[in-house]
Amino acid sequence: MPFSTLGLSPALVGAAKALGYMEPTPIQVQAIPTILKGGDVLGLAQTGSGKTAAFCLPLLQALQNPTRASSRSSIKTLILVPTRELAVQVGDAIHGISQHLPVAVKTTVVFGGVSINPQMMGLRGGADIVVATPGRLLDLIDHNALNLANVSTLVLDEADRLLDLGFSDELTRILTLLPPQRQSLFFSATFDSSVQALADALLRNPARIEIAASPKTTPQIAQRAIEVDSNRRTQLLRHLIQQHKWPRVLVFVATKHAAEIVADKLRKANIWAEPFHGMLSQGKRTQVLTDFKGNRVQVVVATDLAARGLDIAELPVVVNYDLPRSSDDYLHRIGRTARAGEKGVAISFISRDTAAHFDLIEKRNAIGLARERVADFEPAEISDHAPHRAPDGIGNGNNHGNGNGNGGVKGNRPNKKDKLRAIAAQLAAK
Ligand code: AMP
Repeated sequence: MPFSTLGLSPALVGAAKALGYMEPTPIQVQAIPTILKGGDVLGLAQTGSGKTAAFCLPLLQALQNPTRASSRSSIKTLILVPTRELAVQVGDAIHGISQHLPVAVKTTVVFGGVSINPQMMGLRGGADIVVATPGRLLDLIDHNALNLANVSTLVLDEADRLLDLGFSDELTRILTLLPPQRQSLFFSATFDSSVQALADALLRNPARIEIAASPKTTPQIAQRAIEVDSNRRTQLLRHLIQQHKWPRVLVFVATKHAAEIVADKLRKANIWAEPFHGMLSQGKRTQVLTDFKGNRVQVVVATDLAARGLDIAELPVVVNYDLPRSSDDYLHRIGRTARAGEKGVAISFISRDTAAHFDLIEKRNAIGLARERVADFEPAEISDHAPHRAPDGIGNGNNHGNGNGNGGVKGNRPNKKDKLRAIAAQLAAK
């Protein structure tokens, strides 16, 4: 199905083509016509599904018929995102499309951790689109740098992550500043009752778009589980990087300290590696990602800060040096590879202490991976275990797990639900 059948104007169809988008992805097929008609959308889609373009293309089309801003600091479209990195990425996607359009669209990207002054300057005279993280948006509102009175479209991107990061109080305040008459587009990769409560509070008769996992929409990720003693993981990582000559590797660790240590050890082995975590300045984080995308850094050793939303094209390998805390985090981490139809490999290191935890991650995600060993790195610590029980029809019988019930996967946090119920009640009372 071509883009032209979705109701997009020739200018937007041309922009999609210029970006190399041959045909729309499933979420684009379903979301674009509804958004063009002004309807609300509840989109449930995995990362890599093309959801950013699904909302940016129709929103940019609407802004091709400019109307004068009614006040100096007013904005028309507000896109809320959970992290600074995602803000930059969405801003880049908008610039990428709008550079092919005849009518200029003013887009301002704002996030915390950097000086507020250039962002205040950038908002002078208002903006067509503001992409923002919630905390900095509120700071700018408090400085009278912008107001939300004329927002006609609100986008919440990665709504589940916004809640996970504890932004519900900020969201409540922002939502009360928005005009009630508006279009709202709500995207989330996962959907629990707290996300549902937020969606209920925000949306009016939304078109519910759920992109079921299918071979077409599920990234082609080969998942592997390698048993290794925990004190030999850095050596094994180095060995795998050198053996496979991977051009780009994203390695996940549990702590900022581990990110620094592992990156340092790799650099000492002449592998160009950089840490990436929340204690680095925003400038440094941006630099690391730019260098990674520009092939000046081969390995990024990151905390879960990098697990969501980052779109790094041609990232062939993700390594779980430390396992993620939750089964959802596992999916988000491995979803950094195999973007936009590419293939990728996701490797998890399993040691004696983490074997039971990985069993639980597999169970919750209905996967069952064979436990592999690499010659010269066979674990001394992991002895024979009870056979791993893979879900029916999954796995090849070569699996192991210690079945001792240690470790735990993070469960639902009921207090988050309560907070969201409070938001819903507050908005309903408005
Ligand atoms: P997203 O899910 O929005 O993070 O998009 C994932 C990647 O898919 C991005 O690199 C987009 O540039 C790319 N993309 C979005 N739409 C299409 C399309 N219709 N055809 C090919 N690639 C696309």
